[in-house]
Amino acid sequence: MSIPSVRLHRDLPGGLRDRIRVVLVQPSHPGNVGACARAMRVMGLRRLVLVSPARAGVLDDPEARARSSGAGGVLDAARVCGSLDEALADVTLAIAISADTREFGPPLRDPDAACAAAVDELLNADAHQVALVFGTERTGLSIADAGRCQLLCAIPGESDYNSLNLAQAVQVIAYELRRAVMRRVPEATGRDAAGAADARGAGAGGAGQGGGGAGDESDEATAATVRATQRDVEQFFQHFEHALVRIGFLDPAHPKKLMARLRRLFGRARLEVEEVRLLRGLCRLIESPQPPRSQLPRSQRPVSQVSSSPAGSSPCRSHFSSDKPSES
Ligand code: SAH
Repeated sequence: MSIPSVRLHRDLPGGLRDRIRVVLVQPSHPGNVGACARAMRVMGLRRLVLVSPARAGVLDDPEARARSSGAGGVLDAARVCGSLDEALADVTLAIAISADTREFGPPLRDPDAACAAAVDELLNADAHQVALVFGTERTGLSIADAGRCQLLCAIPGESDYNSLNLAQAVQVIAYELRRAVMRRVPEATGRDAAGAADARGAGAGGAGQGGGGAGDESDEATAATVRATQRDVEQFFQHFEHALVRIGFLDPAHPKKLMARLRRLFGRARLEVEEVRLLRGLCRLIESPQPPRSQLPRSQRPVSQVSSSPAGSSPCRSHFSSDKPSES
């Protein structure tokens, strides 16, 4: 029995679609950029970000336009950034897409699990933004770029030949992500953003739990759990690195792989907004140690730290609860 085409072709809910971006790091061939736009558009993805493309005018390049084949709207709306940090600043889950599985990279997932984790992220809070990060054609993603991401996703292929063309890789992942979204969004609401709310209710225990790691968080992730953005996490890493140097734990002359390992550790934890504040407060005290506030004479306690709660009831709270992340 044939399936009516209206059921096969339906729209990705706008409320989810607009919070997914495809990031191409240093794309070098305009034709590939156009083909990526086409691959995205067919699967319902609209947000394309280019990081330092080899050619400045790539979005208007005739070959890019030709290969986009009617998906020129994706190219029109595309953003060009000078760095991956800039492209990911407001992102809460970045997934590095690479055939190269590295020792100190983020935890590795297959496309099924990575896309389930992406949908979990989108459904857990409206503020969450997901990025799919692809590497440059010749050399792929650098270790540093992969280290900016919380998950690593490889499309399994032959052990001796597994490198796809960039646009083909975008196609596979966009298709898998579309399938993961549609599994969770009821068909009746698939045409509008309201589908996201319905899917959120259906989310716990659904496809998103299959991947483990970033996707395996049904016990703790609720609509109230808001992940920190990449920008906030990067500021924390800088602050933490500074603090570790201050106490001699990190030798800037011989950093080895310490920060890469810590990035991996915190990447697994998937820090929340409040947790980043807590850690920034901790970094500040590593840099300028103070005794617990209950041991300070009252006259020396900062006004904001003098509270009516009994001393010791929340020994750490006074040091971080009102701390806002600084720009250091
Ligand atoms: N020689 C490069 C090929 C890069 S292909 C390398 O070995 O990495 C350009 C991009 O397509 C890659 O950076 C990656 O984002 C994506 N890609 C290609 N094949 C892939 C695969 N099997 N799994 C995941 N991503 C892949």
